[in-house]
Amino acid sequence: MAAPWEDVLRNEAAVQEAARVAVDAALLAGVLMRTESEPNASDVVNYAPFTLFPSAVPSALFEQAYAVQQDFNLLVDAISQNKEFLERTLASTIKVDDFTARLFRIYMQVLEEGLAQSVFLGINRSDYMFDCGVDGTPALKQIEINTIAASFGGLTSRTAAVHGQVLKVLGKSKEASRILPNNPSKGLALGIAKAWELYGSTSAVVMFLVEEVQRNIFDQRCVENELWNRNIRVIRRRFRDVFEKGSLDDARRLYMDSQEVAVVYYREGYVPKNYDQQNWEARLLLERSRAVKCPDIATQLAGTKKVQQELSQPGTLEKLLPGSDEAVARIRATFAGLYSLDVGEEGDKIAAMAIADPDQFVLKPQREGGGNNLYGEELRQVLEKIRDSPERTSYILMDKIKPQPAMNYLLRAHSPLQVSECISELGIFGVYVRQGKEMVMNKAAGHLLRTKAIEHADGGVAAGVAVLDTPYLV
Ligand code: ADP
Ligand code: MG
Repeated sequence: MAAPWEDVLRNEAAVQEAARVAVDAALLAGVLMRTESEPNASDVVNYAPFTLFPSAVPSALFEQAYAVQQDFNLLVDAISQNKEFLERTLASTIKVDDFTARLFRIYMQVLEEGLAQSVFLGINRSDYMFDCGVDGTPALKQIEINTIAASFGGLTSRTAAVHGQVLKVLGKSKEASRILPNNPSKGLALGIAKAWELYGSTSAVVMFLVEEVQRNIFDQRCVENELWNRNIRVIRRRFRDVFEKGSLDDARRLYMDSQEVAVVYYREGYVPKNYDQQNWEARLLLERSRAVKCPDIATQLAGTKKVQQELSQPGTLEKLLPGSDEAVARIRATFAGLYSLDVGEEGDKIAAMAIADPDQFVLKPQREGGGNNLYGEELRQVLEKIRDSPERTSYILMDKIKPQPAMNYLLRAHSPLQVSECISELGIFGVYVRQGKEMVMNKAAGHLLRTKAIEHADGGVAAGVAVLDTPYLV
């Protein structure tokens, strides 16, 4: 997967100059983040970290990832409507994982009351790495699918131009012209706009449910601005605001500060630390409402690691997507080995297998947002400690994916410029809208490439480990 700029990679003067151009281009293009010291103010901002060079991505795998996205959209949507499947799959997990259990309780409560919501909007991002097989041929393997708060669809739409300019500065205009345009934020906004339209009240607003700490606001603003451009009003509120000022009328229409809310787009609510008792109450209020939640709680549960593991079991995909053999085959081709640690003989065998050879696996709890997985020696120690306890069922085990590293420079504010051995993760954004039983939109909305130095096993851009990148197809 050699990229055609190996010749300049070690030319220090050229790299220094390109990095200066790149940083200014990123600032001009809006590849921005608020600073760690002032995460809730835009007075001082910085560029979001990104690679100096685009990274080579095998075009066949890139196309494969796009081609399977609509299948994944249909799969997530099918899971979200399958109470029996969610109940059975998460039964062992919710016994030991309090967070998943609380989400599940809201899910059941909302179902018992009966859904007021009739329009459904899914925005997800399916993430992959390029696993290097024994013969060196890379294969597309899914890391996970994010069904809530999948981020960077905004900022990533700005990196292609930056990388194009870098290549031009380095005398690689032909290569620059081959960089693909990419604008997930537009696709996400089209989905939100469709859901808003189907909700059917022109005076209603779209509410972005945002975190207390909002460093990544510019990424969200990209989507917001696309909505304003379509004359759709957007408000930004936190769980706390919903708790204090949110209400439902008799028809369970949601009101915030006396404005009716058509769509709630969560960029928050996916980790335990997002919730205190009041925030849980706010979440319940939102879920009970008629507003289109993106995602509704069932779709959030469809994105759990435990569900991912269950999908890899023989026959599961066929049951969830009956009569769709080709879609099932496309989906299955992207799966790495996934194993249940449920109590029983099979789980005992899996635990022993991982303890004996920890470098071949990743141990994953039911958490999102990066930095939670366990690898190598740490994996072995933790698993040894919990191997005879039901606590092990709060984890799943996954084959470790091993991509071929490539050299690149990671540009980060206040960090020295140095070459690193890197690996990349490709994400494809999916958007779909369903009204009752009818799918009215099902699309792939663009891509995100994130790259990190190989010494970090885990962690995304927000966690300060990975940086934004642009694929260069080879
Ligand atoms: P999260 O929900 O925290 O983002 P992920 O499953 O995406 O959890 O894992 C976080 C990071 O850990 C990924 O971005 C990737 O870098 C690394 N990772 C996860 N699974 C694997 C795997 N099977 N093999 C290699 N690296 C992995
Ligand atoms: Mg992830």
